[in-house]
Amino acid sequence: MSSAASNSAGKSITIKSRDEIRVMEEANRIVAEVLVMLQKTVEPGITTFELDRLAEDLCQKRKAVPAFKGYRGFPGSLCVSINEEVVHGIPSRKRKLKKGDIISVDFGTLYKGYYGDSAVTIPVGTIDGVKEKLLKVTEESLHKAIEQVRVGNRIADVSAAVQDHVETHGFSIVRQFVGHGIGTSLHEGPEIPNFVQDNSSPRLQEGMVLAIEPMVNAGTYKVKVLRDGWTVVTSDKKPSAHFEHSVAVTADGPLVLSSREPFNGEEK
Ligand code: MG
Ligand code: MG
Repeated sequence: MSSAASNSAGKSITIKSRDEIRVMEEANRIVAEVLVMLQKTVEPGITTFELDRLAEDLCQKRKAVPAFKGYRGFPGSLCVSINEEVVHGIPSRKRKLKKGDIISVDFGTLYKGYYGDSAVTIPVGTIDGVKEKLLKVTEESLHKAIEQVRVGNRIADVSAAVQDHVETHGFSIVRQFVGHGIGTSLHEGPEIPNFVQDNSSPRLQEGMVLAIEPMVNAGTYKVKVLRDGWTVVTSDKKPSAHFEHSVAVTADGPLVLSSREPFNGEEK
């Protein structure tokens, strides 16, 4: 789940021990397993409510608590955002996926006192060329950001990596919502904008854990929140994509806690 840009500013940055990072790896491993399950499950005709149920069931089977349920009153366990919806869409029995949609699924866990948070945008069947490029560029921008997660770099280096890649390809960056530190709270400091706003941003230190989450629009960067109080949509109704990983800063470089590799690898 992303943080409203005004909401996480000034929240404290916490440094985690190796043992804490190990627990956060477990929390995020469950998130990754849920997202891989959803990637395999998404198909035309399924409702976003069914996806929410499946996500919550698997989470509980792994003895974790779905972190978003009830968070500031959010009614679901899973955020589901289709096409022009950017983030924080609410699962619904009435909302069926259609061929050609893209659906962003964002899931969080609370496990042994620590949070996991990750998101992926999934194509529903064959999608048009713009959506295909949007997904590719957004996911690539996340990987470029992760490469900057090194001791001594600044948050602005992470932000710049996303912004450069996205804007080079002609897409725009959502500004109203940002990534965040994560730990014993879902949203901790520092704020991680996907655009550069302050070159004097905090330096990365060993033991910080960052939820980096580019939200990228095909058209305007402008967004608005629907009357349900949650669903964020693009102002021009053009599609939006969202990818997120929780990443620990280690002496050896970035450690992607929510990596889906082990699960994807098991399929081969
Ligand atoms: Mg999230
Ligand atoms: Mg998040």
